[in-house]
Amino acid sequence: MSFFKKNKGKKIPKKQWKITKDCLNLILESSKDSHPNEFGALLRVDDYNKNIISELVILPGTVSGDSHAIFRMHMRPIDFSIVGTVHSHPSYSPDPSKADLELFRKYGKVHIITAKPYSISSWKGYDYTGNQVEIKIL
Ligand code: ZN
Repeated sequence: MSFFKKNKGKKIPKKQWKITKDCLNLILESSKDSHPNEFGALLRVDDYNKNIISELVILPGTVSGDSHAIFRMHMRPIDFSIVGTVHSHPSYSPDPSKADLELFRKYGKVHIITAKPYSISSWKGYDYTGNQVEIKIL
């Protein structure tokens, strides 16, 4: 399987990512429901060319827990409409941990972290290097 290595050594052009309000609400609701455990899912776009995140994919075997090892990436479906990951932090910091940065580097192009109180202003988007990116809410 070479899917994991796809991003290595390859420059990925900057994209303006967008997310539907419904999808973001679902993320925030799910984060709230999982608290004090973490919530984790994959982000899916409807039409790859439009960069609009509109769906969540819950991985089989994804466990919510208070560690960051929540993604069982070998269980991920082979699906090119999946563009990244989302997970929650049961704290007030949506900043990526060292483990998060490792995950971002290995998989996906865009990542979301939510934090307490899981409101519209308590989440951030990141690219695969862990730099913050703007994700426009539609
Ligand atoms: Zn994290």
